[in-house]
Amino acid sequence: MLSKIKMKAGRILGLDGLSWRTAPNGLYSVNFHRIGNRKDTEFDPCVYSCTTEELDAHIKFFKQNFDIISLKALTELLTNNEKPKSKLLCLTFDDGYIDNFSNALPVLSNHNVSATFFIATGLVGSRHVPWWDKVAYLIKRHKPNRVHLDAWRNEVIFENCQERFIRAVLQAVKNCKLPAQKQISQLEQTLHHQDGYPRAEFMDWHHLNTLVESGMELGAHSHNHDILTKLSEDELFYELSHSKALLESNLGCDISAFSYPVGSKATYDKRVIEGLKDTGYELAFNFQPGINTIPSTNPYDLHRFPIAPDMSAADIKRMFSYAKRY
Ligand SMILES: [Zn+2]
Repeated sequence: MLSKIKMKAGRILGLDGLSWRTAPNGLYSVNFHRIGNRKDTEFDPCVYSCTTEELDAHIKFFKQNFDIISLKALTELLTNNEKPKSKLLCLTFDDGYIDNFSNALPVLSNHNVSATFFIATGLVGSRHVPWWDKVAYLIKRHKPNRVHLDAWRNEVIFENCQERFIRAVLQAVKNCKLPAQKQISQLEQTLHHQDGYPRAEFMDWHHLNTLVESGMELGAHSHNHDILTKLSEDELFYELSHSKALLESNLGCDISAFSYPVGSKATYDKRVIEGLKDTGYELAFNFQPGINTIPSTNPYDLHRFPIAPDMSAADIKRMFSYAKRY
């Protein structure tokens, strides 16, 4: 919130250029989800970060202005307790959608840069559609004007933009204490949905193997993509250890990095971080913007900037310039 106010004030006062030039050294991590045209999907358009062309432009901008570092280099920096001596940038992708392979990998390879893909292993090669894509599909298919479940505090009303409506319903699901799958069943009943869903769009083990062979790095993003703070001790241990074990045994690489599903403050806590340490993870990314000026002070709470559709290089510069520093 404060960053937004600073951004607005900076713009009015013509301070954008100065703020950018004086932005500190540190780790700037950026996060992408799906790459492609969000208007083409039957599923959740809000998971799209940018088009393939935009990704190409973003990577050019990052290469010109940052030292792009691999996960391996970041891990070394954390282990050695080093303070970044320049503006470092880590490229990350979450969830493991198929367009990471078909659209992002060629762009990354062309630019000869490495990125880390955080994989929810329960979705690998799966036909199972995750809850956020189900919500979006149900709304696009049945076009309700309002949605209300018994467990929600308020109903969500369609105004004039389907994407905004989907976003609001997704938020209502996240805010509700009931497990997402339970809410989806209620939503299906409310909308009299009986026809199932199209096939999910995630990478399989063959795709992931090719990513690794192409010099990309992988991390875990849990197994079922559940919000970890809602889980019992046993469920939490399973989510952290099973995703790591599956990636390691199927791909023959060490997995030491994690990104929290959803990644807002409420989705991880001390207990989750202890669980990560106990299961052998060395670092974890959240999904909150911020510059990690001394990343080794909290390797299990590394901040990442979300890349959103239609962002220009100037928008990204502004997002970095006025960001909170950690
Ligand atoms: Zn995710």
